[in-house]
Amino acid sequence: MDRTDLATTMNAVKAALGGIAFADDAATLRLKSRDFYWFSPILKSELDGKLADLIVFPRDEREVMRAASVAAAFRIPITVRAGGTGNYGQSVPLHGGIVLDVSALEATIWVKPGAGRFRAGSRLLEIDKSLKPFGQELRFFPSTRKQATIGGLVAGGAAGAGTCTWGQISDLGAVLGLRVVTVEETPRIIELRGSDVYKVMHAYGVNGIITEVEIPLAPSHDWAERIISFPTLKAAAAFGQDLTSRDAIAKKLVSVHDGRIPVGIKRLKAIIPDGDAMALVMISEPQIEQLEELTRMHGGTIRYGRSATEAERAAFEGTGDLAPIYEYSWNHTTLHWLRADPTITYLQLRFPPDRNLELVDWIVETFYDEVLLHLEFQRRFGQVTHSALPIVRYSTRERLYELIDALNAHDVGVADPHSYLLNDAGWKRVDSGSAEFKLLADPHGLMNPGKLKNWSAQ
Ligand SMILES: Cc1cc2nc3c(=O)[nH]c(=O)nc-3n(C[C@H](O)[C@H](O)[C@H](O)COP(=O)(O)OP(=O)(O)OC[C@H]3O[C@@H](n4cnc5c(N)ncnc54)[C@H](O)[C@@H]3O)c2cc1C
Repeated sequence: MDRTDLATTMNAVKAALGGIAFADDAATLRLKSRDFYWFSPILKSELDGKLADLIVFPRDEREVMRAASVAAAFRIPITVRAGGTGNYGQSVPLHGGIVLDVSALEATIWVKPGAGRFRAGSRLLEIDKSLKPFGQELRFFPSTRKQATIGGLVAGGAAGAGTCTWGQISDLGAVLGLRVVTVEETPRIIELRGSDVYKVMHAYGVNGIITEVEIPLAPSHDWAERIISFPTLKAAAAFGQDLTSRDAIAKKLVSVHDGRIPVGIKRLKAIIPDGDAMALVMISEPQIEQLEELTRMHGGTIRYGRSATEAERAAFEGTGDLAPIYEYSWNHTTLHWLRADPTITYLQLRFPPDRNLELVDWIVETFYDEVLLHLEFQRRFGQVTHSALPIVRYSTRERLYELIDALNAHDVGVADPHSYLLNDAGWKRVDSGSAEFKLLADPHGLMNPGKLKNWSAQ
């Protein structure tokens, strides 16, 4: 479409939206067409400058349906965006068109013991605040708890604080139900339950707009924070494995870092002695004694502590001397490092449960100068292991892919965070159910075009 035709079409689209809020000024188009893809130098070069033609802000499901109908009628691409914290350009519109910002779809629909249902744009921190009076909480949340939404977690996320106890989004039972709007001239609403939720889970919004999410909840705990130093990464990793394996100790975060990582993060540098490895732990307050005992057993020293009340205030109100400690774990570690050194990048590694610690030793021996590990301990399909989002000293694209190949060949699974393609290997693979569901939910191939190989905008 040339520029005049595009302008004419977009004017007609705006009129057809019939009162739904939208924006097309340059600043909003730029802001809402981006996510955190710039963590990757490769994605940065591929995605910088990709822009939507229009940002649409539905206030409720009826407006979502109307926007979907307009996109279908005009055959223009439509890309859903929520918190905009994705790391792989998931919500970057590769072919322009509409970016549908669903962040106003924020509300609790119901809560009962063990489960809750929320509008998809509800932010995770706000959900946890609202659950407090019910004595319940989210089972797990990404370190972007403050900005990320429940719909974005289902469509683009994986795990986070709480995963050490409750597993990942892909564990059966992590999502109970999803309400999805199709992109057709007359959009339909489809409720997916049981294993059918996998059809749209982690599908980057290529096959339906999620408007409601039903999830299981956990009984809430008073989570105190501790930061612990260890003389070596090996000792810290053994501690992480031990703590995560002990079912009788309630914990929300077990994040273990190479001794070179705290030095690169301003606030942590003052807490951890130079060169010591570090563990960030969120522990149920009545069980601090057991944590202290385990720390001693593994030769660690507690360097920082905050009560559950103070930790919650840091998370809910932003008070205190330190951000909530989960904001130094998972992919926040990369964010802190990038602030100090924009030349680094990262990878996403998955370790087989029976060999995880042995493979950590191998990585340290083989790639010491290039890779700085932090291990995010977790239960994965019932077994204790960790993933890692290591800081990687970046030189060239060729070298990065040599590293990825070497890790894959050694049984360390790499989910490539330097590709925006959904069908690339690892955590980002879509199953056939998703592709079939796309035919039904997006028959014109308009949703987030370019992210799924073999589909294109029409
Ligand atoms: C510093 C940092 C730390 C991070 N830490 C973690 C972590 O600990 N664990 C983790 O899993 N991830 C992490 N992430 C990635 C990201 O924060 C999570 O995946 C988050 O859940 C995404 O939610 P969002 O609302 O921001 O989604 P967005 O980024 O807005 O969207 C993500 C994808 O989902 C689609 N989508 C969003 N909402 C809908 C909807 N309602 N219907 C259909 N499709 C939809 C979008 O089109 C896009 O493809 C991190 C990112 C950063 C920048």
